[in-house]
Amino acid sequence: MKALVAVKRVVDYNVKVRVKSDNSGIELTNVKMSMNPFDEIAVEEAIRLKEANKIDEIIVVSIGTKQSQETIRTALAMGADRGILIETETEIQPLSVAKLLKVVCDEEKPEIVILGKQAIDDDANQTGQMLSALLNWSQGTFASKIEIDGNNLMVTREIDGGLETLKLALPSIITTDLRLNEPRYASLPNIMKAKKKPIEEKKPEDYGVDITPRLTTLKVVEPPKREAGMIVESISELVDKLKNEAKVI
Ligand code: AMP
Repeated sequence: MKALVAVKRVVDYNVKVRVKSDNSGIELTNVKMSMNPFDEIAVEEAIRLKEANKIDEIIVVSIGTKQSQETIRTALAMGADRGILIETETEIQPLSVAKLLKVVCDEEKPEIVILGKQAIDDDANQTGQMLSALLNWSQGTFASKIEIDGNNLMVTREIDGGLETLKLALPSIITTDLRLNEPRYASLPNIMKAKKKPIEEKKPEDYGVDITPRLTTLKVVEPPKREAGMIVESISELVDKLKNEAKVI
């Protein structure tokens, strides 16, 4: 059984993002980039399934610039087996990613595809759901626990007020939530070994997919600066200010 994991190269979660001076997007020059944190969880989960002998091979796919190869290498160093880089300089939106992943699934025929629930750069939370619709495969989104049980996949999801457990027929699409696992760090020997693991290099045209963006970003702006707070002398003063200055009650 094969697992396919989608990994996106995004601005590192520790970086304080800056908006470009022309408001056309986020400043990416000299900014630290890393694997999307939810995708690290996806890679970790696939490795745990392999260690439990539930799957035999883990393929990681990344779509983006040449540098996305580093993201694939990180996944290979964690324990994935091989990579596919679909290289493009064009901005890539969730529908195009889902269409490309669909063709990869048609070719590789994985039983399980694991994605992050969202990429922390665009916060779209769309790709897994779109891929499930395109393939007509079952989906378990925001998974906090998964178990393969014969031809089924048991997926536990955190929902308002409790946990929901779904029984899905394989093949299936899973998107990871934060509490699914804690991703491992790659050891030095594994980083060295990963250099020898194969990465196939492709272009979107090889898959016959038109990746022209469907959405146009009109403007990106910084959130308004927070104003300094104040200390009030009494509750009646607080109520007065909430009523007459903030006008929220
Ligand atoms: P999104 O729908 O953009 O929030 O992304 C959800 C998930 O889809 C991510 O966590 C990744 O697993 C996958 N994904 C999105 N964009 C890409 C990409 N360019 N390359 C590889 N995987 C991606």
